[in-house]
Amino acid sequence: MDIKQLLGLPELLDVKKIICIQPHPDDNEVGAAGTLRELALRGCEIVYTTVTDGSASGSTGAATSEEIVRIRENEKQAAGQLLGVSKQIDLGFRDMGDYTEEDVLNKLIPIIREEKPDMLMTVDPWMPYEAHPDHIKTGKAVATAMLFAANKVRFTEGMPHKVPQIAFYATSHPNGIIDVTTHWDTKLASILAHKSQFDNEEWPMLRMYFEHQASQLHSKLNLEQAGFAEAFKVLATEQLHFFPAALYS
Ligand SMILES: [Zn+2]
Repeated sequence: MDIKQLLGLPELLDVKKIICIQPHPDDNEVGAAGTLRELALRGCEIVYTTVTDGSASGSTGAATSEEIVRIRENEKQAAGQLLGVSKQIDLGFRDMGDYTEEDVLNKLIPIIREEKPDMLMTVDPWMPYEAHPDHIKTGKAVATAMLFAANKVRFTEGMPHKVPQIAFYATSHPNGIIDVTTHWDTKLASILAHKSQFDNEEWPMLRMYFEHQASQLHSKLNLEQAGFAEAFKVLATEQLHFFPAALYS
């Protein structure tokens, strides 16, 4: 039984409005830039929400954390422009700070109710070896927000809104592979827009790693030509609670 088909949910590339919630200013590009570029070209409205200020990054060479935050904010705007992101929202939590998952949830519910997306996108907090607290807290808060954005008992302010689907990137259990070959150069450019993070001596190695990973994924599409792909775990809201088969869907 395909629950998404049963519920009449659109394919990932057919959604009309998406909020992409990233723990740090560069995660959306690394995880999904090619798919986001394709969505933008298809007329999908893309809203970025960035949970932390990126201030814990050690690679900017900036003297103060305020300066790091400023640099990364500019880089985030530049990357978003390359892809066609229409709006950027910052939650402003400190990178590696002591904020809680619930703090993120409380800020996400009003944004979802205001923006009314038909899909959320974020990091997969259940990737088995994910050790970064910002990624785990963000992914889990977003999944919880899926369950409660339509609940007017627990969250009373604003008009309840049900988001039907979520797409996790950086996932170990993908069920959707998107061919992003035509957007690969744009993806790399959008990652490199985060100069303070990627424009350094590690980039050739990282680029090779990204390309190897993306070409491996692309080979699963069994197309004649080689290329690059991105992978997602796409789940319906209904699969986010008491649904053991979600892992295998
Ligand atoms: Zn991150």
